[in-house]
Amino acid sequence: MFVGELSLNGDIKRVKGALSMAINCKNEGKEYLIIPKENAIEAAMISEIKVIPVENLNQVVDFLSNKIDIKSVNIDRKSILKRIPSDDIDFRDVRGQFQAKRALEIAAAGGHNVILTGPPGAGKSMLAKRIPTIISEMTFDEIMEVTKIYSISGLLSSNSHLIKNRPFRSPHHTITDIGLIGGGNYPKPGEISLAHNGVLFLDEITEFGRNTLEALRQPMEDGKVIISRNKASFKFPSKFMLIASANPCPCGFLGDSFNKCRCSHYQISNYKKRLSGPLLDRIDIHVFVPRLSKEDLTGDSDNESSIDIRKRVQKARAVQRKRFLKAQISCNAYMNTKHISKYCKLDEDVKRLLEMAIGKMGISGRGYYRILKVSRTIADLDKSKEIKINHVSEAIQYRVSDKKYF
Ligand SMILES: [Zn+2]
Repeated sequence: MFVGELSLNGDIKRVKGALSMAINCKNEGKEYLIIPKENAIEAAMISEIKVIPVENLNQVVDFLSNKIDIKSVNIDRKSILKRIPSDDIDFRDVRGQFQAKRALEIAAAGGHNVILTGPPGAGKSMLAKRIPTIISEMTFDEIMEVTKIYSISGLLSSNSHLIKNRPFRSPHHTITDIGLIGGGNYPKPGEISLAHNGVLFLDEITEFGRNTLEALRQPMEDGKVIISRNKASFKFPSKFMLIASANPCPCGFLGDSFNKCRCSHYQISNYKKRLSGPLLDRIDIHVFVPRLSKEDLTGDSDNESSIDIRKRVQKARAVQRKRFLKAQISCNAYMNTKHISKYCKLDEDVKRLLEMAIGKMGISGRGYYRILKVSRTIADLDKSKEIKINHVSEAIQYRVSDKKYF
C-alpha cells in the first residue's frame, strides 16, 4: 500500500490519518506500507506490517526496482507506549474539598458523569483538571483508538506520534454544534470525540447554548456519533466522562456561607431551566463545592496525592474489567438495564431504603438506575461484592444536591 501527499517536485509529504491507514493495510492482508518518513513512527505502531519510510518519488522507484534498500521502521513499542508522567498537576494541590474529591474518585472509578456546582472561586475547574491524573492508564487498544481520532484530525505533530495520556478537552461555551459534536463538509470529529476515553469538561455549562447541550444527549447515550453526508456516513467514537461546572444561581452565591445571594426566585428558576431534565438525568453525580474559609485554606492539611487515589481507582477498574469481560463494556457507567439487574442486586432492606428515598425526592426512573450504578462503583471501591446500605445511601447523596441547585 502506498500513502503520501505527492508534491510537484516529487517530494512525499506527511498525511493525516496514517495510523488508520496502517490498520487498514494490516486488515487487508498487505505486507508493505510505503509511507512519508514523517508518518513512519505512527504507522509502525502496527507491528504486523513492514513500514517503509520515503522522502520522495525517486526513492520509491529505486526501492521497488531493488536499486536501494530501505529498512522497515522498527520501534520499541513498549517504551513508546509508556505514559508521560503528566505535567505538574496533582490532587495534592487542592486543599480541603474532601467531599468533592471523594465524589471525583467514585466518578473516575466507574466512569460516571459529574456536575460540580458552587460559587465562583471555589476551585471547581481546579478539581476538574485533575481528574485525568487519577484515571487508570489507557490500554494499548484505547491509545490506538484515541490516536486514530487525533491522526485524522491532523492534531498529531511530527514529534508526538501517539496520544498516551487520557484526553482532557475543555471547549469554550461559544463553541458551535459542529465544533462540539463533529461534522462539516468534510466530516471531522468534534470535541466529544477528541475527548474519547478521557474527560470532556464543560466549564460554566449554563453558558452553553441549550441546543448545543441537547445535541450531546444521543452521543452520550450511544458512546458514538454518526454524521451523515450525501451518500456516506461517518462514525466517530465518543465515550467520555462529562464533567460540568456551574454557578448555583445567576449571582453565584446561592448556598454560600460568606456572601448573600441577591437573586429573586424568578431569576433562580429561570436559571435552572438552562439545563434540561433529560440532560441532568444523564449526570450521575452532583456535588456542591463550597468556598473554603481562610482557616481551611491556610491550615495544615494532609492532602492525598493523585498517585494514591489512582491506586484505588485502578483496583476498582480491575474488578469491573473482570465483571464485564463478556458484556464488552468497560465500566459501571455503561451498564444497561439488563446488566443492572444482573450486577446490582439489592437486599430487601437496602431496596426499601432506596425506594423510600426515591419517593421522597421525586427521582425519575432513569435517576433510579443512575443511583444503582453509582452504588455499584462505591461497593467496588469498598472491595465489596454486595451493594450494602452505606453504598446506596452515599449514592443517594450525590443526587440530593441536584434537587437543591438544579
Ligand atoms: Zn444568586
